[in-house]
Amino acid sequence: MAHHTSLLTAIDCRGHVHLVVGANPLAAARCNQSLAVGATPILVAPEPLKKGDLLPAALQVRVDSGEVRWVRDDETAGQFNSTYLETLGRDDVDGFVDAVFVTDHHPLLAESVAAACRRRRIPVNVVDRPDLCSFALLSTHAEGPLQIGITTNGSGCKLAARIRREVAATLPTGLGEACARLGALRRQIQEEDRRTAATATKAEIDFTLSEDDSYDQSAAFNQLVLPASGNATADNTDDVETAKTRRMRWLAQMCEYWPLKRLASVTDDDVEALLEAYATQGTAFPQTVQAPDAGNPSGNGRIILAGSGPGHPDLLTRAVHQAILSADVILADKLVPQGVLDLIPRRTEVAIARKFPGNADAAQEELIEQATAAARAGKTVLRLKQGDPFVYGRGGEEVLRLRAAGFKDGQSLFVLPGVTSALSGPLFAGIPPTHRDAADQVLICTGTGKKGKAPQPPGYRVSRTAVFLMALHRITGLLAELTDFTAEEKESNNTGRALWPASTPCAVIERASCPDQKVIRTTLEHVAAAIEQEGSRPPGLLVVGRACDVLYTPVSVAASSDGASKPWSVEEGFASLDLDSISPAGLASLA
Ligand code: SAH
Repeated sequence: MAHHTSLLTAIDCRGHVHLVVGANPLAAARCNQSLAVGATPILVAPEPLKKGDLLPAALQVRVDSGEVRWVRDDETAGQFNSTYLETLGRDDVDGFVDAVFVTDHHPLLAESVAAACRRRRIPVNVVDRPDLCSFALLSTHAEGPLQIGITTNGSGCKLAARIRREVAATLPTGLGEACARLGALRRQIQEEDRRTAATATKAEIDFTLSEDDSYDQSAAFNQLVLPASGNATADNTDDVETAKTRRMRWLAQMCEYWPLKRLASVTDDDVEALLEAYATQGTAFPQTVQAPDAGNPSGNGRIILAGSGPGHPDLLTRAVHQAILSADVILADKLVPQGVLDLIPRRTEVAIARKFPGNADAAQEELIEQATAAARAGKTVLRLKQGDPFVYGRGGEEVLRLRAAGFKDGQSLFVLPGVTSALSGPLFAGIPPTHRDAADQVLICTGTGKKGKAPQPPGYRVSRTAVFLMALHRITGLLAELTDFTAEEKESNNTGRALWPASTPCAVIERASCPDQKVIRTTLEHVAAAIEQEGSRPPGLLVVGRACDVLYTPVSVAASSDGASKPWSVEEGFASLDLDSISPAGLASLA
């Protein structure tokens, strides 16, 4: 069906002059709207008004108080006096007004105003005449600095208002205030950084760019920040620079990963902790675990290590769901999705790992310490991890640590599996990794080794599907390793590994099973450019191999919405579990 879309913009109208034509309740509303955004409304309406008419009371009040200037125009019933457009505005734009709102239905008037505005490139909005409008107003929700606007581009303003209400209703309370607080924090960090160094760090640049809300994350967003080697000192420029990068990244990652509900309740303490982390970045998180008490943990305390699946709460196993309902304390990794966190009963104590690039080890220690302390106090502790706890989840390491701390398998220490993103991610992108005749093996690899070093790349086999986790932030490096020998290999003449052809099909799957799931299908040759251009929305993974094309015709050239053609295709959104229409009763809780 034919439809158009518009460029949505947010106009800073402070000091602008808006012309409001008409003398009805809508004109009153438009004047109020202008005042609310810091503009000066000027009312153009005949004097006297049409027989028996009065200015709406709300408008009369504003006129009387001087907030709205009323230009009495006795011609408005017919031809519009277009000199208003060029004389009533601000001096610094030569008297041109900044926007015109026609609220009167008189067709002659509407048409002449719209034509006069169009000639002068003045934005004009005419009620009920989309054909005469150069811009439309959105149905908006505002909360502090946060504004949400909805348009259906002419498909119905009632519908837009309904959608806006539904969207607003899903937001946690306090989000507007949190935006203000996080914005202030961001400015504070930027200012302090500017004061301490003349040169901008990469992180600062990322943040400055993201001043514009339309700027989705760059592929560099997820770049690895190595752990601090020690405390920052003023005379160690490298450390100071690293610390700054880290602090900006932490803030960026908070905004990206923290559940909205948690973000909405950001406190001064959280802000303080982030600012502190700057000065004392090497020691902000505990580095050591207390020596275990001799013997067994006391009472019935126990620790359950469990996987929460890739994102959608319906992908939890019943065992893990039960553990969520019965735990006294839940220690969740930052990737554990909101839908899962929402299932936690209100009385349960919850902590989310402060695991950010550069402090993963320290955060891991902090969690283990918290878990052992609570279990020793007799509590049931649930260590909730994303996906499956033993697939790149450090689950094995945790088991070893907890055993060493005196916890016993099957008595005070339990591990529950979860659906791993490594296999469900491809599934939700329609990729069967072991499809007969396409692949007879699937290899799960990491793109990032210990301490940020690149791991040994896997060799190519035509019948192999390779799934790379934690790889998108260094996609260029990974591609180089897959398609060519590393410098080390060349040096040592170790060139036995089969290289991956650049034409191998592949797919990037981000936020699999979450409402904002995104799939990019292409080949190794174009995948880096695709990520660069389409932006990155972590967490995401890369699947490589013929299996990518089994259920999809290979995309050689896909037309994008702007008509340009790109050697990749992008699919947004996740619908596969939305079975409401098939089984309304059973899945009513999906929402
Ligand atoms: N234990 C997890 C993996 C942890 S490593 C599991 O079994 O799924 C974290 C990596 O998992 C991320 O870097 C990303 O590559 C991948 N990942 C996790 N959740 C994902 C999701 N919903 N969609 C795509 N990739 C995801």
